[in-house]
Amino acid sequence: MSTISAGTRYGRELRAICGADHVMEDPSELHRGVILGIAPGVAVAPASADEIAAVLRFANEHGLSVVPAGGFTQQQVGNLPSRIDVLLYTSRLTDVDHYDPGDLTVGIGAGCTVAQLSAMVGANGLLFAGDAALPERSTVGGLLATAMPGPLRHGYGGLRDYCIGIRFVTGDGRKAKGGGRVVKNVAGYDLMKLLIGSQGTLAIITGASFKLFPASRQTRTFAAEFGTPAEAIDFRNRVLRSPLSPICLELVSPGARALLPDGKESASWSIYVRAAGSDAVLARYRAELGAAISHEMEGQSEWDVWRALADFSHIVPDRYPRGLLFSLAVPLSEIQPVLDHLATAGESNGLALAIIGRVGVGHLLAGLWPMRGAEVTLVNFINAASELRNLLPKDASMAVLHCPPEARHHVAAWGPTPTNLDSMRAVKTALDPKDVLNRGRFLF
Ligand SMILES: Cc1cc2nc3c(=O)[nH]c(=O)nc-3n(C[C@H](O)[C@H](O)[C@H](O)COP(=O)(O)OP(=O)(O)OC[C@H]3O[C@@H](n4cnc5c(N)ncnc54)[C@H](O)[C@@H]3O)c2cc1C
Repeated sequence: MSTISAGTRYGRELRAICGADHVMEDPSELHRGVILGIAPGVAVAPASADEIAAVLRFANEHGLSVVPAGGFTQQQVGNLPSRIDVLLYTSRLTDVDHYDPGDLTVGIGAGCTVAQLSAMVGANGLLFAGDAALPERSTVGGLLATAMPGPLRHGYGGLRDYCIGIRFVTGDGRKAKGGGRVVKNVAGYDLMKLLIGSQGTLAIITGASFKLFPASRQTRTFAAEFGTPAEAIDFRNRVLRSPLSPICLELVSPGARALLPDGKESASWSIYVRAAGSDAVLARYRAELGAAISHEMEGQSEWDVWRALADFSHIVPDRYPRGLLFSLAVPLSEIQPVLDHLATAGESNGLALAIIGRVGVGHLLAGLWPMRGAEVTLVNFINAASELRNLLPKDASMAVLHCPPEARHHVAAWGPTPTNLDSMRAVKTALDPKDVLNRGRFLF
């Protein structure tokens, strides 16, 4: 059965579930769903968890593959789905389930964008700490499904820390929830944590509850610059040992600096320390960091820099479509050698390098693209990716976020095989036994 025929063949049943206006079968309407050349057979936009459950049960009966879709901001993280019979938009799941500013909690539909949620709670002086690349398009469901750390991860923890409940429909069409709406409720905790970062392979998230934070009245970013990555990491250690509690602690390599809004070429490795608080708190930062601070950023220029750092994984492929982009999770003590491995993999293959990262929590993004004048072939991209994969410490992991199309089938999409693959398989079988969701992405 071709994917296109899935639309025409099953459109009537899907219209009965979602309503005629919310099923798209015309190929010209489906262009938004073409993910790296995979055209969906049909797209649906259910209005509720009940409708999603009905679509998934139907897909189970007929052996269809279903791909949930939020804002389509994701790039080619890991394996692509092998086919998309039904593309399932979450765009109609935008209801506010509960919002209690006094209690610092909110429950929201998975189709709400990160920017909409941030604006809603920001109006009450609150912060949703889930920073996303392209927040005007990224949805709450997509953010949870990808769970990639942004700059705010340093100060506020990860989604697994402040997401307090998730509502979802399993791959075999059962409605369920994990966690709850108040911070003290821990029932179902583990299932909720499993779904965070599951890349839409276990269940479709229909809504989530979050703990919120008081928004800071003012912030400053203190930049420190160093001649070598080793000196920059020493400075990171100094900040981590100090009494300071920055909200972001970011490494910016010389190559990455040129991609930030001021676009300055620089030979320095920078650490950006972003602080929030009163004038007295900011003064404490100046006193603690002392002569290491080369300059301070505030206001719009500070905001622009952090926006670019959050959007970095889109800036690199936009600027250098023939390039590689990796996401790396690295233990804090291993960051320095991994920076060296990245430099070696780049240099030996004629590739320029830009690295940014949350060096206080162990997450790096690295972009590599052909150096000016270098003759770079497919072999160089494959070598750079496999050298890096082989050099990574055992407790590190990596995913390819972007590579040239011709390298796609040669560059291992995920890093080293996880040691808990058997338990991952068991969870997949329990929640999505017919492999309906995001078929082909999971490491079977
Ligand atoms: C600094 C920073 C950089 C980032 N860079 C990247 C990057 O390079 N690549 C990247 O992929 N992410 C990146 N992220 C994460 C990024 O925020 C998410 O990609 C984004 O939030 C996804 O939202 P979306 O609505 O566009 O999801 P989509 O792009 O629509 O979907 C992303 C994935 O989630 C699944 N999904 C979507 N909605 C649901 C749902 N409701 N239930 C279950 N599964 C669902 C989809 O099937 C797909 O596999 C980054 C985040 C930060 C903070």
